[in-house]
Amino acid sequence: MSLISCSECKKEVSNKANVCPHCGNPLNGNEPIEIELTNKRWKWFKLFGWLLFILGLYMSLGFAHAGGFSNPMVGLGIFVAFVGFVFLLIAKFGSWWTNR
Ligand SMILES: [Zn+2]
Repeated sequence: MSLISCSECKKEVSNKANVCPHCGNPLNGNEPIEIELTNKRWKWFKLFGWLLFILGLYMSLGFAHAGGFSNPMVGLGIFVAFVGFVFLLIAKFGSWWTNR
Protein backbone atom coordinates (compact mmCIF):
# COMPACT_ATOMS: atom_id res chain seq x y z
CA MET A 1 0.00 0.00 0.00
CA SER A 2 1.38 3.43 -0.88
CA LEU A 3 0.14 6.95 -0.61
CA ILE A 4 -0.87 9.10 -3.55
CA SER A 5 -2.14 12.66 -3.48
CA CYS A 6 -5.77 13.31 -4.32
CA SER A 7 -6.20 15.25 -7.57
CA GLU A 8 -8.93 17.41 -6.01
CA CYS A 9 -7.83 18.30 -2.48
CA LYS A 10 -4.10 17.29 -2.76
CA LYS A 11 -4.23 15.41 0.54
CA GLU A 12 -2.54 12.02 0.88
CA VAL A 13 -4.76 9.02 0.21
CA SER A 14 -4.10 5.28 0.06
CA ASN A 15 -3.84 4.05 -3.52
CA LYS A 16 -6.22 1.23 -2.55
CA ALA A 17 -9.04 3.65 -1.75
CA ASN A 18 -11.82 4.01 -4.30
CA VAL A 19 -12.76 7.50 -3.26
CA CYS A 20 -10.83 10.17 -1.41
CA PRO A 21 -11.80 10.00 2.31
CA HIS A 22 -11.26 13.76 2.58
CA CYS A 23 -13.33 15.13 -0.29
CA GLY A 24 -15.09 12.10 -1.84
CA ASN A 25 -13.33 12.53 -5.19
CA PRO A 26 -13.29 9.23 -7.16
CA LEU A 27 -9.64 8.21 -7.50
CA ASN A 28 -7.70 7.27 -10.64
CA GLY A 29 -8.36 3.95 -12.28
CA ASN A 30 -11.97 3.53 -11.27
CA GLU A 31 -13.68 5.32 -14.10
CA PRO A 32 -12.30 3.25 -17.03
CA ILE A 33 -13.32 0.02 -15.26
CA GLU A 34 -16.80 1.40 -14.76
CA ILE A 35 -17.14 2.28 -18.45
CA GLU A 36 -15.75 -1.09 -19.48
CA LEU A 37 -18.32 -2.86 -17.30
CA THR A 38 -21.12 -0.76 -18.74
CA ASN A 39 -19.93 -1.51 -22.27
CA LYS A 40 -19.94 -5.20 -21.47
CA ARG A 41 -23.50 -4.87 -20.24
CA TRP A 42 -24.55 -3.21 -23.50
CA LYS A 43 -22.81 -5.97 -25.45
CA TRP A 44 -24.98 -8.54 -23.66
CA PHE A 45 -28.00 -6.38 -24.42
CA LYS A 46 -27.01 -6.32 -28.08
CA LEU A 47 -26.39 -10.07 -28.19
CA PHE A 48 -29.77 -10.70 -26.57
CA GLY A 49 -31.41 -8.38 -29.09
CA TRP A 50 -29.85 -10.19 -32.04
CA LEU A 51 -30.89 -13.57 -30.62
CA LEU A 52 -34.49 -12.42 -30.18
CA PHE A 53 -34.50 -10.80 -33.61
CA ILE A 54 -33.21 -13.91 -35.38
CA LEU A 55 -35.44 -16.21 -33.33
CA GLY A 56 -38.49 -14.08 -34.14
CA LEU A 57 -37.59 -13.98 -37.81
CA TYR A 58 -37.18 -17.76 -37.91
CA MET A 59 -40.46 -18.22 -36.03
CA SER A 60 -42.49 -15.96 -38.31
CA LEU A 61 -40.94 -17.35 -41.50
CA GLY A 62 -41.25 -20.94 -40.31
CA PHE A 63 -44.87 -20.64 -39.27
CA ALA A 64 -45.75 -18.65 -42.38
CA HIS A 65 -44.24 -21.43 -44.45
CA ALA A 66 -46.11 -24.13 -42.51
CA GLY A 67 -49.53 -22.57 -42.05
CA GLY A 68 -49.68 -19.33 -44.02
CA PHE A 69 -49.75 -15.80 -42.71
CA SER A 70 -53.08 -16.35 -40.95
CA ASN A 71 -51.28 -18.48 -38.35
CA PRO A 72 -51.26 -16.45 -35.11
CA MET A 73 -47.75 -17.76 -34.39
CA VAL A 74 -46.52 -15.62 -37.31
CA GLY A 75 -47.64 -12.54 -35.39
CA LEU A 76 -45.87 -13.81 -32.28
CA GLY A 77 -42.69 -14.31 -34.29
CA ILE A 78 -42.90 -10.79 -35.66
CA PHE A 79 -43.49 -9.52 -32.14
CA VAL A 80 -40.41 -11.37 -30.80
CA ALA A 81 -38.32 -9.99 -33.68
CA PHE A 82 -39.64 -6.51 -32.91
CA VAL A 83 -38.72 -6.83 -29.22
CA GLY A 84 -35.23 -7.95 -30.32
CA PHE A 85 -35.00 -4.91 -32.58
CA VAL A 86 -35.98 -2.63 -29.68
CA PHE A 87 -33.23 -4.27 -27.56
CA LEU A 88 -30.72 -3.53 -30.33
CA LEU A 89 -31.82 0.10 -30.44
CA ILE A 90 -31.56 0.41 -26.64
CA ALA A 91 -28.07 -1.16 -26.70
CA LYS A 92 -26.99 1.22 -29.45
CA PHE A 93 -28.36 4.21 -27.60
CA GLY A 94 -26.97 2.98 -24.28
CA SER A 95 -23.41 2.51 -25.54
CA TRP A 96 -23.58 5.89 -27.26
CA TRP A 97 -24.79 7.43 -24.00
CA THR A 98 -21.94 5.78 -22.04
CA ASN A 99 -19.15 6.70 -24.49
CA ARG A 100 -20.43 10.12 -25.36
ZN1 LIG B 1 -9.53 14.55 -1.96
